[in-house]
Amino acid sequence: MRLVRFGEKGSERPGILRDGRVVDIRRHFPEAPDLGREFFEEGWIERLRSLTDPGQPLTARLGSPVARPEKIICLGKNYAEHAREGGMSIPEKPLLFCKTVNTLNGPHDPVLLPESSGQVDFEVELAVIIGRTAKRVPRGKALSYVAGYCVMNDVSAREAQFSDKQWFRGKSFDTFAPLGPALVTPDEIPDISRLSLKTWLNGQLMQDGNTSDLIFDAPYLISFISQDITLVPGDIISTGTPSGVGIFRDPPVVLKDGDLVRCEISGIGFIENRFVSP
Ligand code: ZN
Repeated sequence: MRLVRFGEKGSERPGILRDGRVVDIRRHFPEAPDLGREFFEEGWIERLRSLTDPGQPLTARLGSPVARPEKIICLGKNYAEHAREGGMSIPEKPLLFCKTVNTLNGPHDPVLLPESSGQVDFEVELAVIIGRTAKRVPRGKALSYVAGYCVMNDVSAREAQFSDKQWFRGKSFDTFAPLGPALVTPDEIPDISRLSLKTWLNGQLMQDGNTSDLIFDAPYLISFISQDITLVPGDIISTGTPSGVGIFRDPPVVLKDGDLVRCEISGIGFIENRFVSP
C-alpha cells in the first residue's frame, strides 16, 4: 500500500495512491486520523487493506506522507564512500543527529534557500517510518516495527553545518526535508537491503548508491536507537546518504535559485523539488 497526504499545505487529507489515482480515506472513514502516530497505533493500515474504491485521478498537491512526527533521527557518515569523499573516518557506531519537524516538506514542494547560510546541498536517503512503539528491540525483530519507507532529501546548508561544527542548524532550516512520494508499506518492498538510490541535479546524475553499502542497516539502527531512545509510531529514521553530494566535488557544486533536484529510490519512487530564493 502507498499512503499519501493530499491537498493544500496545512489541510492535507490521508489517502491511498494506486496507479496515479488517489482514494480519499475519509470518504469511507470520516474518523480516520491524519497519517501519524494515532493512524499507525490504531492499526489503520490493516483496516484499509480491504478497501476496493478505485479512487479519483490525482490532481492535488502531495504533502509529506507523515504529519508531525515526534522525531526525525538522521545518520551521519553511514556509507563508507561518502565518509571517504568528505575526508572523514568511518564511524564505529551509528552517528545520530536530529532534524527538526519544521523541515518536513511535500515531495514536489519548493525548498527555500535560507538567507543566513549558503552552500545548500542535496542528500538522497532511505527514510524508515516507525509503525509501533519500539524499546530495546532485538535486531532480528526490528523490521516488524516499521510502518513503511519513503525517499527523503536531507537538504543541508554546509556553511552553517561546517561553521557551527555541529549539525543542528544547517540541517533544520524550513522545508529542508522533502519526503515521499508516498509511505510505501514493507509488503511492497521485499528486500530493503538492495535498493538503488539516485540524485539528479537539473537532469544530471549526481548520486548513484545502493542500500547494500550501508554501514549500519535499518534493522541495526532500529535496534541501536531503541536501546535508550523510545521510538514511537510516525518517527522517521533517515539512514544516511551515499557518495556524490555537491560539496565534496571538485569544484564544489552548491544549489542556486531555480535548481531542480530529483531523488529516487527503486521500489519507492521519486521526489523532485525546485530550490528557490525566498
Ligand atoms: Zn544525511
